[in-house]
Amino acid sequence: MDTFQGIEIDSLSNIREAIKEGVFSLPDLVDHYLATAEKHQDLNAYVSLFSAEAKERANNLQLAFETDPTAAGPLFGAVLSIKDNICLAGAEVTAASKILEGFESLYSATAVERLLEAGAIIIGRTNCDEFAMGSASEHSAYGPVKNADAPDHVPGGSSGGTAVSVQCGSCLIGLGSDTGGSVRQPASFCGLTGLKPTYGRISRHGLLAYASTFDQIGLIGRKAEDLALCLSVMAGPDEYDMTAAKEPLPASEIKKTAGSKRFCYFDFCVDHAGLQREVQDAFRRKLEALKKAGHIVEQVEFPWRDYLVPAYYVLTTAEASSNLSRYDGVRFGRRSPQAKTVEEVFDLSRTEGFGAEVKRRILLGTFVLSAGYYDAYYGRAQKVRRLISDHNQELFQKYDAILAPTSPILPWKHGDKDQDPISVYLADIYTVYANLTGIPAVSIPLERDSESGLAIGMQIMTNQFEEDTLFSLIALENNLPEK
Ligand code: GLN
Repeated sequence: MDTFQGIEIDSLSNIREAIKEGVFSLPDLVDHYLATAEKHQDLNAYVSLFSAEAKERANNLQLAFETDPTAAGPLFGAVLSIKDNICLAGAEVTAASKILEGFESLYSATAVERLLEAGAIIIGRTNCDEFAMGSASEHSAYGPVKNADAPDHVPGGSSGGTAVSVQCGSCLIGLGSDTGGSVRQPASFCGLTGLKPTYGRISRHGLLAYASTFDQIGLIGRKAEDLALCLSVMAGPDEYDMTAAKEPLPASEIKKTAGSKRFCYFDFCVDHAGLQREVQDAFRRKLEALKKAGHIVEQVEFPWRDYLVPAYYVLTTAEASSNLSRYDGVRFGRRSPQAKTVEEVFDLSRTEGFGAEVKRRILLGTFVLSAGYYDAYYGRAQKVRRLISDHNQELFQKYDAILAPTSPILPWKHGDKDQDPISVYLADIYTVYANLTGIPAVSIPLERDSESGLAIGMQIMTNQFEEDTLFSLIALENNLPEK
């Protein structure tokens, strides 16, 4: 439990109350967070701390609060970390890639700007998989991130640094990005709550693109009510991102729900060769508990289970190969010092700048888009996405929410899966569904494995733009024991 001056600082309401009562000030809290981040340096969660800026902002916000407490923004007291693929004006942003070494952002992401306007403080940028490609936060130019519960284990990825920054108590909430599970899976591995909103809910302006029709900024924290509040602040249309939706904004507070709910889960969520026993048991126990509590919980067939991960990887690598073509040593970041001709600038800058996983995906994406193979791979994967999306709409005619494990496996030991990238891709089976269909999904803590103490998470997914329902359902079930 995170405590400071005898106060549990795991929720914004506790923090605000303590500041109001004068138990501590916002600058005290920022100092505490910075000291905590320093203490846990070995976890490698941060790539840089914005210490001076955060302290100065805390002083100014505290002064303004003392002058007029009623004028404090809704996020006064909230200290956040941001993943190293989200822009903050004047700060370096590299997507954990050598190719962006030294690149400073000229503007802030719309989401970040809105958080700052609401009174939040950004404390630092967090380590992640290069260009958000990965599941363990090991593919980073800054070295691997460690899970604070068990440092010889991975924290999940790609937003692993963000998850660990919250897990180790160095901030209240972290911003990540979720293209195929990168917010939910690390939240699950670190015993936290992770939200991927509906595609288009939050502007992607200022988020370094991986796969533009999948990417969405998400949040990792401890309390659902704090995530709901931050989401309501960041959401909404944006003139810089035409895909940012004009739907009514989600509520800033969680609405309580009563009565029996209708849940479904896919057959492969309880019966799948890759599903680890511990996860399966925990998920089944939860299904039973929900049934006992009077909810409808039904198993539904999902005939396209074997196409989920392939469709995701064909489409996202195709989009990545196009999005990452801008990193050519000319326009952004690092240029190879060896290069003598224009050709060599492109060739050597990319060869030296990108890591192995990013190169693998650029090659795969270029291949599936090439003239001879486009129809066989990219075209087909698009059709699979359409088929699944149509079926998804039918499901929500009948059910309030879909349930699934977050990851079929427990956090693994560092290095254990280095030789087997395919098995890591396959472990995305339960998270990519929400990105293929664009629906909101949250991972909540479920249990801890009795032997290892490692966290196991579960997802709740609702229909597009139904984040309010999603949050109301989280409140039904959420009780992970402390490690
Ligand atoms: N593990 C997935 C991948 O490697 C998810 C990445 C993400 O959501 N950014 O692509």
